[in-house]
Amino acid sequence: MIDYKSIAGLNSGLSSQSVDETASVARDLGVGPEILVLGLYFAPFIIVALILVIKWIPYQRIQNQLKRAVKKPLQAESIRWLEDNVPFYSNLSVKEKIRFRKRVSWFIVYKNFILKNGLVLTELTKVKIAASAIQLTFGYNNVKLHHFNDIIVYPDKFKSPFTKKMTFGEVNPVGAIVLSMKELEKGYAIKDDGINLGLHELSHVLLLEHKNKRANYAFIKEKDLNKLYNFSLEVNKKEKRVGGLYNKYAFSNFHEFFAKTIELFFEKGSELKELYPDVYHVTGKILNLE
Ligand SMILES: [Zn+2]
Repeated sequence: MIDYKSIAGLNSGLSSQSVDETASVARDLGVGPEILVLGLYFAPFIIVALILVIKWIPYQRIQNQLKRAVKKPLQAESIRWLEDNVPFYSNLSVKEKIRFRKRVSWFIVYKNFILKNGLVLTELTKVKIAASAIQLTFGYNNVKLHHFNDIIVYPDKFKSPFTKKMTFGEVNPVGAIVLSMKELEKGYAIKDDGINLGLHELSHVLLLEHKNKRANYAFIKEKDLNKLYNFSLEVNKKEKRVGGLYNKYAFSNFHEFFAKTIELFFEKGSELKELYPDVYHVTGKILNLE
Protein backbone atom coordinates (compact mmCIF):
# COMPACT_ATOMS: atom_id res chain seq x y z
CA MET A 1 0.00 0.00 0.00
CA ILE A 2 1.25 3.47 -0.80
CA ASP A 3 1.97 5.59 2.23
CA TYR A 4 0.38 8.87 1.10
CA LYS A 5 1.23 10.49 4.42
CA SER A 6 4.95 9.84 3.98
CA ILE A 7 4.80 11.06 0.33
CA ALA A 8 2.97 14.17 1.52
CA GLY A 9 5.60 14.58 4.21
CA LEU A 10 8.37 14.21 1.63
CA ASN A 11 6.71 16.77 -0.62
CA SER A 12 6.20 19.22 2.17
CA GLY A 13 9.81 18.62 3.23
CA LEU A 14 11.00 19.44 -0.31
CA SER A 15 8.83 22.50 -0.64
CA SER A 16 9.87 23.85 2.73
CA GLN A 17 13.49 23.24 1.69
CA SER A 18 13.06 25.20 -1.57
CA VAL A 19 11.32 28.02 0.30
CA ASP A 20 14.29 28.06 2.65
CA GLU A 21 16.67 28.24 -0.33
CA THR A 22 14.67 31.08 -1.91
CA ALA A 23 14.62 32.86 1.42
CA SER A 24 18.40 32.51 1.73
CA VAL A 25 18.92 33.79 -1.89
CA ALA A 26 16.53 36.63 -1.12
CA ARG A 27 18.49 37.40 2.06
CA ASP A 28 21.73 37.40 0.05
CA LEU A 29 20.18 39.88 -2.39
CA GLY A 30 18.79 41.95 0.42
CA VAL A 31 15.11 41.55 -0.70
CA GLY A 32 12.14 39.68 0.73
CA PRO A 33 11.37 36.20 -0.74
CA GLU A 34 7.98 37.40 -2.12
CA ILE A 35 9.71 40.11 -4.14
CA LEU A 36 12.16 37.59 -5.58
CA VAL A 37 9.38 35.16 -6.55
CA LEU A 38 7.46 38.01 -8.16
CA GLY A 39 10.62 39.09 -9.98
CA LEU A 40 11.19 35.58 -11.33
CA TYR A 41 7.53 35.37 -12.39
CA PHE A 42 7.64 38.67 -14.30
CA ALA A 43 11.17 38.27 -15.70
CA PRO A 44 10.06 36.82 -19.12
CA PHE A 45 7.56 39.67 -19.57
CA ILE A 46 10.18 42.25 -18.68
CA ILE A 47 12.66 40.69 -21.16
CA VAL A 48 10.04 40.69 -23.97
CA ALA A 49 9.11 44.31 -23.18
CA LEU A 50 12.80 45.30 -23.28
CA ILE A 51 13.30 43.57 -26.66
CA LEU A 52 10.21 45.36 -28.03
CA VAL A 53 11.47 48.74 -26.80
CA ILE A 54 14.95 48.08 -28.25
CA LYS A 55 13.40 47.23 -31.63
CA TRP A 56 10.82 50.03 -31.45
CA ILE A 57 13.33 52.86 -30.93
CA PRO A 58 15.19 52.44 -34.28
CA TYR A 59 11.86 51.73 -36.07
CA GLN A 60 10.41 54.94 -34.67
CA ARG A 61 13.57 56.82 -35.62
CA ILE A 62 13.22 55.61 -39.25
CA GLN A 63 9.52 56.52 -39.25
CA ASN A 64 10.34 60.03 -38.04
CA GLN A 65 13.03 60.40 -40.72
CA LEU A 66 10.51 59.32 -43.39
CA LYS A 67 7.90 61.77 -42.07
CA ARG A 68 10.46 64.59 -42.19
CA ALA A 69 11.46 63.57 -45.74
CA VAL A 70 7.81 63.68 -46.89
CA LYS A 71 7.46 67.21 -45.48
CA LYS A 72 10.52 68.40 -47.41
CA PRO A 73 9.40 70.40 -50.47
CA LEU A 74 10.27 69.06 -53.91
CA GLN A 75 13.32 70.54 -55.62
CA ALA A 76 12.73 73.45 -58.02
CA GLU A 77 13.89 71.25 -60.91
CA SER A 78 11.20 68.65 -60.11
CA ILE A 79 8.44 71.27 -59.85
CA ARG A 80 9.51 72.79 -63.17
CA TRP A 81 9.45 69.36 -64.78
CA LEU A 82 5.90 68.75 -63.52
CA GLU A 83 4.77 72.14 -64.89
CA ASP A 84 6.35 71.55 -68.30
CA ASN A 85 5.54 67.87 -68.81
CA VAL A 86 2.37 66.93 -66.97
CA PRO A 87 -0.64 68.90 -68.29
CA PHE A 88 -2.84 67.34 -65.61
CA TYR A 89 -0.62 69.00 -62.99
CA SER A 90 -0.18 72.35 -64.75
CA ASN A 91 -3.96 72.69 -65.10
CA LEU A 92 -4.60 72.26 -61.37
CA SER A 93 -5.33 75.20 -59.05
CA VAL A 94 -2.54 76.43 -56.75
CA LYS A 95 -4.09 74.56 -53.80
CA GLU A 96 -4.47 71.33 -55.79
CA LYS A 97 -0.88 71.60 -57.02
CA ILE A 98 0.30 71.66 -53.40
CA ARG A 99 -1.78 68.54 -52.70
CA PHE A 100 -0.37 66.85 -55.83
CA ARG A 101 3.23 67.64 -54.82
CA LYS A 102 2.65 66.38 -51.27
CA ARG A 103 1.43 63.09 -52.69
CA VAL A 104 4.43 62.90 -55.01
CA SER A 105 6.69 63.47 -51.98
CA TRP A 106 4.99 60.65 -50.09
CA PHE A 107 5.36 58.33 -53.07
CA ILE A 108 9.05 59.00 -53.66
CA VAL A 109 9.88 58.60 -49.98
CA TYR A 110 7.92 55.41 -49.30
CA LYS A 111 8.37 53.42 -52.54
CA ASN A 112 11.50 51.42 -53.20
CA PHE A 113 13.23 52.54 -56.42
CA ILE A 114 15.72 50.16 -58.00
CA LEU A 115 17.70 51.58 -60.92
CA LYS A 116 19.35 49.23 -63.41
CA ASN A 117 22.21 49.41 -65.91
CA GLY A 118 23.92 52.56 -64.70
CA LEU A 119 20.88 54.79 -64.23
CA VAL A 120 21.47 57.34 -61.48
CA LEU A 121 18.83 57.76 -58.81
CA THR A 122 17.84 61.43 -58.48
CA GLU A 123 14.73 63.04 -57.07
CA LEU A 124 13.64 63.93 -60.61
CA THR A 125 13.88 60.30 -61.77
CA LYS A 126 11.52 59.31 -58.98
CA VAL A 127 9.21 62.29 -59.57
CA LYS A 128 8.77 61.30 -63.24
CA ILE A 129 7.37 57.94 -62.17
CA ALA A 130 5.44 59.26 -59.18
CA ALA A 131 3.69 61.79 -61.45
CA SER A 132 1.81 59.01 -63.27
CA ALA A 133 0.87 57.28 -60.03
CA ILE A 134 -0.44 60.48 -58.45
CA GLN A 135 -2.28 61.57 -61.61
CA LEU A 136 -4.21 58.28 -61.60
CA THR A 137 -4.95 58.25 -57.88
CA PHE A 138 -5.53 61.99 -57.40
CA GLY A 139 -9.31 61.55 -57.44
CA TYR A 140 -9.26 59.15 -54.50
CA ASN A 141 -8.61 60.22 -50.94
CA ASN A 142 -6.33 57.49 -49.77
CA VAL A 143 -5.17 55.12 -52.50
CA LYS A 144 -1.43 54.68 -52.11
CA LEU A 145 -0.89 51.55 -54.22
CA HIS A 146 0.31 49.66 -51.15
CA HIS A 147 0.60 46.35 -52.98
CA PHE A 148 3.25 47.79 -55.30
CA ASN A 149 6.33 48.86 -53.40
CA ASP A 150 9.19 48.06 -55.78
CA ILE A 151 9.76 50.20 -58.86
CA ILE A 152 12.48 48.89 -61.14
CA VAL A 153 13.72 51.30 -63.80
CA TYR A 154 15.82 50.41 -66.87
CA PRO A 155 17.37 53.05 -69.15
CA ASP A 156 15.64 51.59 -72.22
CA LYS A 157 13.98 48.34 -73.38
CA PHE A 158 14.57 45.35 -71.14
CA LYS A 159 14.02 41.60 -71.28
CA SER A 160 10.97 40.51 -69.32
CA PRO A 161 11.74 37.61 -66.98
CA PHE A 162 8.17 36.38 -67.56
CA THR A 163 7.67 36.55 -71.31
CA LYS A 164 11.43 36.48 -72.19
CA LYS A 165 10.65 39.21 -74.72
CA MET A 166 12.06 42.73 -74.92
CA THR A 167 9.58 45.24 -73.52
CA PHE A 168 9.23 48.85 -72.29
CA GLY A 169 7.18 48.14 -69.22
CA GLU A 170 5.40 45.53 -67.19
CA VAL A 171 3.61 45.12 -63.93
CA ASN A 172 4.28 42.14 -61.76
CA PRO A 173 1.15 41.33 -59.71
CA VAL A 174 3.39 40.23 -56.83
CA GLY A 175 4.22 43.90 -56.31
CA ALA A 176 6.77 45.33 -58.76
CA ILE A 177 6.46 47.92 -61.51
CA VAL A 178 9.16 47.74 -64.20
CA LEU A 179 9.65 50.64 -66.62
CA SER A 180 11.96 51.95 -69.33
CA MET A 181 12.96 55.54 -68.47
CA LYS A 182 13.48 56.49 -72.13
CA GLU A 183 9.96 55.39 -73.07
CA LEU A 184 8.50 56.98 -69.95
CA GLU A 185 10.06 60.34 -70.88
CA LYS A 186 8.82 59.97 -74.46
CA GLY A 187 5.31 59.43 -73.16
CA TYR A 188 5.44 62.77 -71.34
CA ALA A 189 7.27 64.63 -74.13
CA ILE A 190 4.53 63.94 -76.71
CA LYS A 191 1.40 64.96 -74.88
CA ASP A 192 -1.36 64.35 -77.39
CA ASP A 193 -0.66 61.01 -79.12
CA GLY A 194 -2.50 58.83 -76.60
CA ILE A 195 0.69 56.94 -75.80
CA ASN A 196 2.10 57.32 -72.30
CA LEU A 197 4.01 54.42 -70.77
CA GLY A 198 3.75 55.77 -67.22
CA LEU A 199 -0.03 56.18 -67.39
CA HIS A 200 -0.38 52.82 -69.17
CA GLU A 201 1.57 50.73 -66.67
CA LEU A 202 0.21 52.58 -63.66
CA SER A 203 -3.33 51.94 -64.98
CA HIS A 204 -2.58 48.22 -64.73
CA VAL A 205 -1.36 48.84 -61.20
CA LEU A 206 -4.52 50.76 -60.34
CA LEU A 207 -6.81 47.98 -61.53
CA LEU A 208 -4.77 45.26 -59.80
CA GLU A 209 -4.71 47.29 -56.61
CA HIS A 210 -8.49 47.64 -56.77
CA LYS A 211 -8.95 43.93 -57.45
CA ASN A 212 -6.63 42.90 -54.62
CA LYS A 213 -8.45 40.47 -52.42
CA ARG A 214 -7.93 42.42 -49.20
CA ALA A 215 -11.38 43.04 -47.75
CA ASN A 216 -12.96 46.52 -47.80
CA TYR A 217 -10.28 47.92 -50.03
CA ALA A 218 -11.97 48.10 -53.45
CA PHE A 219 -12.23 51.80 -54.33
CA ILE A 220 -13.74 51.66 -57.84
CA LYS A 221 -17.46 51.06 -58.17
CA GLU A 222 -17.94 47.61 -59.72
CA LYS A 223 -20.95 48.86 -61.67
CA ASP A 224 -18.72 51.44 -63.42
CA LEU A 225 -16.13 48.79 -64.25
CA ASN A 226 -18.88 46.54 -65.62
CA LYS A 227 -20.16 49.42 -67.74
CA LEU A 228 -16.67 50.02 -69.13
CA TYR A 229 -16.33 46.31 -69.89
CA ASN A 230 -19.63 46.32 -71.82
CA PHE A 231 -18.59 49.48 -73.69
CA SER A 232 -15.29 47.79 -74.58
CA LEU A 233 -17.22 45.16 -76.57
CA GLU A 234 -19.07 47.87 -78.52
CA VAL A 235 -15.90 49.90 -79.07
CA ASN A 236 -14.11 46.79 -80.35
CA LYS A 237 -16.84 46.24 -82.96
CA LYS A 238 -16.87 49.88 -84.03
CA GLU A 239 -13.06 50.18 -84.18
CA LYS A 240 -12.93 47.07 -86.37
CA ARG A 241 -15.33 48.77 -88.81
CA VAL A 242 -14.03 52.34 -88.81
CA GLY A 243 -10.84 52.21 -86.73
CA GLY A 244 -9.01 55.27 -85.54
CA LEU A 245 -8.58 55.76 -81.83
CA TYR A 246 -7.59 52.46 -80.25
CA ASN A 247 -4.77 50.15 -81.29
CA LYS A 248 -5.35 46.42 -81.82
CA TYR A 249 -3.45 45.54 -78.64
CA ALA A 250 -6.08 47.34 -76.54
CA PHE A 251 -8.51 44.54 -77.32
CA SER A 252 -6.23 41.72 -76.09
CA ASN A 253 -8.09 41.71 -72.77
CA PHE A 254 -9.95 44.09 -70.45
CA HIS A 255 -6.78 45.15 -68.59
CA GLU A 256 -5.25 46.39 -71.85
CA PHE A 257 -8.49 48.14 -72.84
CA PHE A 258 -8.59 49.81 -69.42
CA ALA A 259 -4.96 51.01 -69.70
CA LYS A 260 -5.39 52.32 -73.27
CA THR A 261 -8.63 54.07 -72.35
CA ILE A 262 -6.88 55.91 -69.53
CA GLU A 263 -4.03 56.99 -71.82
CA LEU A 264 -6.66 58.32 -74.27
CA PHE A 265 -8.70 59.95 -71.49
CA PHE A 266 -5.71 62.10 -70.53
CA GLU A 267 -3.99 62.59 -73.88
CA LYS A 268 -6.81 62.51 -76.45
CA GLY A 269 -9.70 63.44 -74.18
CA SER A 270 -11.70 65.45 -76.72
CA GLU A 271 -11.50 62.70 -79.40
CA LEU A 272 -12.48 60.01 -76.87
CA LYS A 273 -15.38 62.18 -75.67
CA GLU A 274 -16.61 62.80 -79.20
CA LEU A 275 -16.30 59.23 -80.50
CA TYR A 276 -17.18 57.31 -77.32
CA PRO A 277 -18.85 59.70 -74.84
CA ASP A 278 -20.04 56.85 -72.59
CA VAL A 279 -16.49 55.51 -72.31
CA TYR A 280 -15.16 59.01 -71.55
CA HIS A 281 -17.82 59.64 -68.92
CA VAL A 282 -17.45 56.30 -67.10
CA THR A 283 -13.64 56.60 -67.13
CA GLY A 284 -13.94 59.96 -65.36
CA LYS A 285 -16.20 58.29 -62.80
CA ILE A 286 -13.78 55.38 -62.33
CA LEU A 287 -10.92 57.82 -61.67
CA ASN A 288 -13.22 59.90 -59.45
CA LEU A 289 -12.33 63.01 -61.46
CA GLU A 290 -15.86 64.05 -62.48
ZN1 LIG B 1 -0.44 46.88 -70.91
